[in-house]
Amino acid sequence: MNIVVPIKQVPETSNVKMNPETGTMIRAGVETVVNPLDLYAIETALQLKEQHGGTVTAITMGPSQAEKVLKEAIAMGCDEGILVSDRKFGGSDTWATSYTLAKAIEKFGTFDLIIAGERATDGDTAQVGPGIAAWLNIPLATYVARVESVDDRSLTVERLVEEGYQIIEMEKPALITVVKAIASPRLPTLRGKKRAKTATIPLYNAENMDVDPASLGLRGSPTKVVKIATPKVTRGGTVVSATDEQSVASAVEQLMAFLESRELV
Ligand SMILES: Cc1cc2nc3c(=O)[nH]c(=O)nc-3n(C[C@H](O)[C@H](O)[C@H](O)COP(=O)(O)OP(=O)(O)OC[C@H]3O[C@@H](n4cnc5c(N)ncnc54)[C@H](O)[C@@H]3O)c2cc1C
Repeated sequence: MNIVVPIKQVPETSNVKMNPETGTMIRAGVETVVNPLDLYAIETALQLKEQHGGTVTAITMGPSQAEKVLKEAIAMGCDEGILVSDRKFGGSDTWATSYTLAKAIEKFGTFDLIIAGERATDGDTAQVGPGIAAWLNIPLATYVARVESVDDRSLTVERLVEEGYQIIEMEKPALITVVKAIASPRLPTLRGKKRAKTATIPLYNAENMDVDPASLGLRGSPTKVVKIATPKVTRGGTVVSATDEQSVASAVEQLMAFLESRELV
């Protein structure tokens, strides 16, 4: 079973800072990591490879530094990493990102399964996985918590929904996005780290991919960011505290009076 795992390079969450003047993320000097939720996709792929054989290929679209996350994926056990990078891809929204990644996967060749993370911790749209499936016209299941079985033609997965879960049988090739419950990501091994150090990462760009130039980057992105603002943190207001039964009753009265005055209840 040949599995492709799209992974994203994201800023380490604890380091994210916004420029208050421009409203954009300060990326310079910020440490980047594999999108934490993509580690679950990598782990799922590695477990399926251990059970059924085949290969696991990690793929990322980003600047040249994104090669770092591919090496991390190889250190965890992925066979190969592919970097999709070109200045022409800059400014891509989720539509153009998923188009470009789908084209890169087409160039990669035959695969049985694509496993994406649930969402990226920075962009947070959860659109890229489903977008890739749509561009490739293959079956999709999101929020997968368990891969129940895999055979030559299909796979059966358990998908989390609000009321419980759904069991879905899908024909291969297919795409799933996975939730944390599916597996516990393994740590990179020393052997893996050594292999990652010397691994050659193929570069896919606008020249060597079969892409429509009008569908790439900012030009191919229908979403336009009109304004970005960081919400102001206000610590004003009145603190109502209560320590005994009597003061609790009085605090509740005060809160209710406040809510009623604002017509919130
Ligand atoms: C108008 C506009 C302009 C933008 N310009 C830029 C820009 O110039 N530079 C920039 O860095 N971002 C830019 N972005 C953000 C960029 O489009 C998103 O970060 C990107 O499309 C991924 O979306 P997401 O972060 O919401 O990922 P999600 O959809 O939440 O990610 C879900 C899953 O998809 C996969 N995935 C997501 N992104 C990638 C990737 N790049 N490579 C491999 N797998 C991936 C992972 O498996 C991930 O877990 C722009 C967005 C908009 C709307």
